[in-house]
Amino acid sequence: MQISKIFLYDEPSVPELNLEKLAKFLKNTFNLKVEIRRNVFSKASHTDAERMASCRIFNVRKPFEKHSPTRDEIDFEKLSFATTSKMENIVMYDGFEFQKIVNDLIEQDESITDYFHVAFSNKLTCTYDDSDYRFHGRAIICSNPTIISTTGIIEAPAKPKEYYMDLISNMAQGLNVDSIKKKYHGTYLEYHDPRLSTIVEGYLMQAIFYYLTGDPFCDSRECRLYNPHWQKDLFYSQIEVGKLCEKHQKILKDMVNNLNY
Ligand SMILES: [Zn+2]
Repeated sequence: MQISKIFLYDEPSVPELNLEKLAKFLKNTFNLKVEIRRNVFSKASHTDAERMASCRIFNVRKPFEKHSPTRDEIDFEKLSFATTSKMENIVMYDGFEFQKIVNDLIEQDESITDYFHVAFSNKLTCTYDDSDYRFHGRAIICSNPTIISTTGIIEAPAKPKEYYMDLISNMAQGLNVDSIKKKYHGTYLEYHDPRLSTIVEGYLMQAIFYYLTGDPFCDSRECRLYNPHWQKDLFYSQIEVGKLCEKHQKILKDMVNNLNY
C-alpha cells in the first residue's frame, strides 16, 4: 500500500481535536500532503440515516444483527448528521457497519488506494469480541477510511479501578457521582479534555501503520503504538513518553523514505 495524501474529516462538536495541529503533525511525521474536510456526514442522505440507525447495538452480549429502525431512530440520525453536538445519550454502533457507511460517503474519485481518509466522529463505535462474547467500545476502526471515535477514546480504555469501586459504593449510599468525578479529575480523559489532540496523534499513527504495514500496535508501553486497556496507560504512552519505541522509529523512517521515494 502507498499513501500520497491524507484527508481528515472534522468532528465540529469536539474543537479540542484541533485538526490544524493534527494536519501539521502528520505533515511533519510522514512528509505527506494533508487536507482538512468538513464532517463526513455533512452530505449524508436519508438512506445513510436509515443505514446508521440499523447498525445500532441493543444487546452487547450478542454478535451484530441488523436492526429494523423506527422512524424516530432514523430522525435521530438525521438530526445528528446535521448537528453532531445534538447527541446527549451515548448510542453504540457496530464499528464495521459504521465504517461501510463512511466508505460510501467518500467521493468516488477520491476513493483510491493512495488517498488515506480519516473520519472523526463523536458516535461510539464498538466491535464484538469473540474472546469474551461481547461488544466493546473502540477508539479506532483501522481501515481506509479509518474511523476515530472521540467518545471511544474517552469511554473505551478503562478508568482507574478505584474510580469504579468508589462509584459503586457511593451510589449504594445515594451519594453524588460528581464528587467522585472531582476526586479522580485528571487521572482519566474527560469530554473536552485539552490533551485530546495529542492523544489522537498516537491513534493517527496506528491508523497509518495499520494501512501500510498491517500491524498497528506495539507491545511496549514506551511507544505511541501501544494499545491501552487503561486510561493511565493511554496518558503514559501518548503524553509522558510521546514517541515511538526504537523498533518503530526505524520502521517509520523506512516508511517515510518509501512514501517519498
Ligand atoms: Zn513500538
